[in-house]
Amino acid sequence: MPPSEFELIERYFSRLGAARADVALGVGDDAAVVEMPAGQLLVAAIDTLVEGVHFPRGSPPSSIGHRALAVNLSDLAAMGAEPAWALLALTMPEARADWLAAFAAGFEALARAHGVALIGGDTTSGPLTISVQVLGFAPQGAVLRRSGGRAGDAVYVSGWPGEAAEGLALELAGTAPVTAAGAVGDDDARSLRLRFLFPAPRVALGRALRGAASACIDVSDGLLADAGKLARASGCGVELDAGLLPLSPALLARCGRARAIERALCGGDDYELCFTVPPERAAALEARLAAAGHLVRRIGVLTAGGTVVARDGGTVIEVSSRGFDHFAR
Ligand code: ADP
Ligand code: MG
Repeated sequence: MPPSEFELIERYFSRLGAARADVALGVGDDAAVVEMPAGQLLVAAIDTLVEGVHFPRGSPPSSIGHRALAVNLSDLAAMGAEPAWALLALTMPEARADWLAAFAAGFEALARAHGVALIGGDTTSGPLTISVQVLGFAPQGAVLRRSGGRAGDAVYVSGWPGEAAEGLALELAGTAPVTAAGAVGDDDARSLRLRFLFPAPRVALGRALRGAASACIDVSDGLLADAGKLARASGCGVELDAGLLPLSPALLARCGRARAIERALCGGDDYELCFTVPPERAAALEARLAAAGHLVRRIGVLTAGGTVVARDGGTVIEVSSRGFDHFAR
């Protein structure tokens, strides 16, 4: 007999993630109860992943569990917030023990790494859909926003944008499955696929940007589009220099320079941070971030006026309502 909903919750989700002293009541009652630290603001985000839309059909369940939490931790990172608690609404066509165990393990590893406790959720049957809500906190006055940038502020990005988009393309090409646990060898295709399957949300970087960045956004829909959202929220335009983009050796080896630039500017699923810094603060912040081991690169500038543009030498790459546009000027 297949396990009941109650047995499933008890077996896989009742003690998942970090043990936190501030959880007064976790999984098992009608609602969870937590203690907010004094003087902190509650910061909340929720994101839904639908099979076939946000991840390929048949993705490794450990990756699905990891990504469902990671995309939300990335949103909290962009706010400079410290994640603490998560809720999980899981809709799945059937309750398979092997699938649930791997899904829970993927979620668990990332939750523990960030000190996040799973405090509740919902379990229903239907097409595979995962909603995770993350709750966290940040001190009064320390929350990062999209809207604080000014014309002249330097624009930065963390990590290796474009790798995840190439990794997704490789996943969709239908090669043999890859999981974090099973990862052996270090060829470029494998490392790019792992970047899509197991993104690393930049939570520590977000906290390090408190009081230093003028604005911040996480990069989920493509660097140029998301830098554009930050710019618009700040009442600015943005100009990125393709020659400054951090193009990873693996991405360059797989794609060559032109497609690597397109992946970095327009590919989704990076979960890096894009942030702005007033020019007079840039050098000190760069030194502090480098000393703390954060990989960031200055890639452009906020501009007066509303255009969102990337330049590559004499070529202008513009994101228009028609999407990606590449033309010479
Ligand atoms: P109710 O019917 O009162 O909403 P449920 O039977 O749906 O309660 O859930 C019972 C308990 O199990 C609640 O504490 C709920 O938060 C938790 N729960 C249900 N599904 C999940 C899940 N997928 N992950 C974590 N906790 C869950
Ligand atoms: Mg209830």
